[in-house]
Amino acid sequence: MTATGNENQGWAQTGRTPRIAIIGAGMSGIAAVVKLRRAGYTDITVYEKGDRVGGTWRENSYPGLSCDVPSHWYSFTFEPNPDWPHRFSYGPDIQAYMERTAQKYGVTECTRFNTEVTDLRYEAPVWQLTTSQGEQATYDLVIAATGILHHPSVPDIPGLDSFEGARFHTARWDHNVSIEGKRVGIIGTGSTSAQIVGAIADKVEHLALFQRTAQWMHPLFQREYPEYWKKLLRAFPVLCRASYWFYYKVIEWTIAEATVGNKLLQWYVSWMCRRNLEKNVPNPVKRAKLTPDYQAACKRLIICSDFYPAISRDNADIVTEGIERIEPTGIRTKDGVLHALDVLVLATGFKVSNFILPTRVTGEKGVELNALWNGIPHAHRAMSIPGFPNFWMLEGPTGPVGNISLTSITENQIDYIIQCLDKMKRDGLLAMAPKKKAFEDYNAAMAEAVKNTVWFTGGCQSWYLDKNGIPNLYPWAPRRFRKEMQHPDFSEYRLMHRREDLLPGSPETAEMAAQAASA
Ligand code: NAP
Repeated sequence: MTATGNENQGWAQTGRTPRIAIIGAGMSGIAAVVKLRRAGYTDITVYEKGDRVGGTWRENSYPGLSCDVPSHWYSFTFEPNPDWPHRFSYGPDIQAYMERTAQKYGVTECTRFNTEVTDLRYEAPVWQLTTSQGEQATYDLVIAATGILHHPSVPDIPGLDSFEGARFHTARWDHNVSIEGKRVGIIGTGSTSAQIVGAIADKVEHLALFQRTAQWMHPLFQREYPEYWKKLLRAFPVLCRASYWFYYKVIEWTIAEATVGNKLLQWYVSWMCRRNLEKNVPNPVKRAKLTPDYQAACKRLIICSDFYPAISRDNADIVTEGIERIEPTGIRTKDGVLHALDVLVLATGFKVSNFILPTRVTGEKGVELNALWNGIPHAHRAMSIPGFPNFWMLEGPTGPVGNISLTSITENQIDYIIQCLDKMKRDGLLAMAPKKKAFEDYNAAMAEAVKNTVWFTGGCQSWYLDKNGIPNLYPWAPRRFRKEMQHPDFSEYRLMHRREDLLPGSPETAEMAAQAASA
């Protein structure tokens, strides 16, 4: 593939439509294609390393896989779904929705499957993209829709490889291995583990849950939607829209507010969690083991009603003794006990600071993103980076995550990018990138605000914290984010009109990279 545009002028100056590369055909990538096309930006190629769309919903297939965000909110606004079977969807239903949506809107047609992007190099004002097959192509704009939780984290426990039974990470569930009637051990007690325990405890001979840290759990009010309800939604699509906003508001005004400093709501969430535990775990020894010593919602709040009844079963144990090592036949804990296992499940989460990495991304003046981030990914408004013009991220670092719907967040971000493209078109811009000052001011305000959040004050360790122990996510309420995304402030950006604006590139980026490297 070769460049077809006049690189000296740029798409916005010649009036052609920009060539857009989207990396990832998960939830964000699908939404980006649909919304960009609707806005008139139709020259899009999606690169997907997998063989199907769906991202996290394609990669995860563990028993009990579900979404603890209500279905009608975890939906695209352009594709309301009156047929959701449950209030909280199971993984296969979400994957089917993603595939259906991708087919319906022609996302699959413009997607190159089994094609990993290995290298992105900015050659002002365009990006040169290289794939794992060695192909190269030129794009005016790159959107990284690579998701957050897709690189499994395998714990560094001595003897892990010596285990002779079946072993796999939750994101690589081995369906060739039967767990029926087996002795199963699960390491980790996050949202994933809670769903698995709830789904398999009654199928296995014995379940040992290796818990390093207890977790607070809010009940999940599951409901199967009756046929008459789906018919009603089909007849009156406005009801789907009303459901979207109903759940948006309910969660925004409860859990989301509780995390960003509302003391009353924090109390409410804590009370709900404690009540859930006391009501559903009758055994006092198990209850004591399952009682956390930090504030509810400090770690990503688990919303699950199946876990407590499952772990309360006689064939299930919570092992709180630390793991000494893994042996061929099981896990040896620090008290010397060998917990014999047939199957070992690693519910140990993900490497969360990768985002687009390990793709090599090189911006102005040859600065590499990996070096710039230096293990602590940051972005301007969670979407762009000084020194990386015409490069955007969806669900990028410091964005709003947690117990809110990422479909709504990603749609807000896409709308923002579209406004930026419209600005480029209107003003005939060659490139735009955030100013270093705007990026620093924004991140400084975040660093200050994050001190009011329960992720910082709640007294826990979690994947929300960066390697310096600072929460690396959006510290304000989601409605503020929504407003920010609706109204881009273009004064925060270097708007590059002429070729002279592009060169010699941004000295500030090299400076930042040097600072990061010496930190
Ligand atoms: P996680 O929340 O990061 O949990 C990982 C678990 O593994 C923790 O309990 C951790 O213990 C434990 N662990 C890690 N290394 C260990 C080691 N060396 N020894 C012992 N224990 C170890 O991962 P996750 O459960 O996969 O969830 C990740 C995120 O995915 C969630 O927070 C959520 O955002 C998302 N998710 C969402 C849904 C949904 O319904 N929407 C469902 C599943 C997942 P410590 O707590 O002590 O670190």
